[in-house]
Amino acid sequence: MLYYCIFARMNSANIAAAKELLSTPQKIVIIPHKNPDGDAIGSTLALWHYLRNQGQEAVIVSPNDYPKFLKWMPGHNNILNFETKNKQAKSALDDATLIFTLDFNHFGRTGQLAPLLEQSQAKFIMIDHHQEPSDYAEIMYSDVSMSSTCEMVYNFISFFEDTDKITPEMANCMYTGIMTDTGSFKFPSTTSKTHQIVAQLIDKGADNLAIHSHIYDTNSPSRLHLLGCALNNMVILQEYRTAYITLSQAELDKYKYQKGDTEGFVNYGLTLEGIRFAVIFIENSEEGIIKISFRSVGDFSVNEFARTHFHGGGHDNAAGGRSDISLTETAERFVSLLPSYKDQLNA
Ligand code: 5GP
Ligand code: MN
Repeated sequence: MLYYCIFARMNSANIAAAKELLSTPQKIVIIPHKNPDGDAIGSTLALWHYLRNQGQEAVIVSPNDYPKFLKWMPGHNNILNFETKNKQAKSALDDATLIFTLDFNHFGRTGQLAPLLEQSQAKFIMIDHHQEPSDYAEIMYSDVSMSSTCEMVYNFISFFEDTDKITPEMANCMYTGIMTDTGSFKFPSTTSKTHQIVAQLIDKGADNLAIHSHIYDTNSPSRLHLLGCALNNMVILQEYRTAYITLSQAELDKYKYQKGDTEGFVNYGLTLEGIRFAVIFIENSEEGIIKISFRSVGDFSVNEFARTHFHGGGHDNAAGGRSDISLTETAERFVSLLPSYKDQLNA
């Protein structure tokens, strides 16, 4: 492959390759992972604005819908949801000469889009901060030390010496993803460089107060009641420094669950003194699975745990996975795994 590069971090060779690719008009599709979060939507939108302002033809195709608390982001109305705008999305993918994949690193994370990506003749550029990337991209910007894909999009633009072309729209999008993926600038991946970039973004027009309010102050009464239910269901296993929550489909229905309502619930377990491992199991009857979120503090790798036992992955301290057995059986299976991790969890 002409542009193939084994270096995960960007170096002069793959920056030059990216510049060469973008020096001619391309038909670009930008893709976030399924169930996109603030970083996935923020990074795809920021890159979309940038590429279009450079005169490129670009569209974002999302595997499915995203939460309401992101539906203010500049440009979001242009995102093609593969589930509801299937024809348009498919034709954009068929015509694509260049596909950017953002905030994920294997096609399995895109749900029904995966077979289309496998077959695509387009060149791929990956921008991502998750562990163990697959080898599908001609240009791979993969760096697990990064706080967020939005921070990487900022860097990507800076490799092109184009930070002066960051508009307020782009700044708002990137700020959102950095803020949400760092738990508002408190996770260990938050570096001084992250803060420097965030400061630049505010200077370039990111409205930080408005963004915080859009993301965190839009609770509905039913979401708070669902949170109450989740906290009530929490099981604390001091022996394993673990806290887990279950939410059944019946409970979600009772509290009129909307996409995004359970965002952040898993973190409450970690606010308990001495707890290092927090998990939430959420039943999804429509998909016939239990969606799981894992969080940890310290050296216990939830990425390893999710990969080994629950078909998932992610980062050392935040990962996801799924289970195909019932909610109760999943929780029982999880608890049965803990004794073999007792030493690690108590280290
Ligand atoms: P969340 O628990 O918020 O859904 O995801 C936490 C982190 O794990 C995110 O970085 C997300 O991209 C990743 N993640 C979530 N679910 C999965 C999954 O099923 N497989 C993999 N490989 N990563 C996941
Ligand atoms: Mn991310």
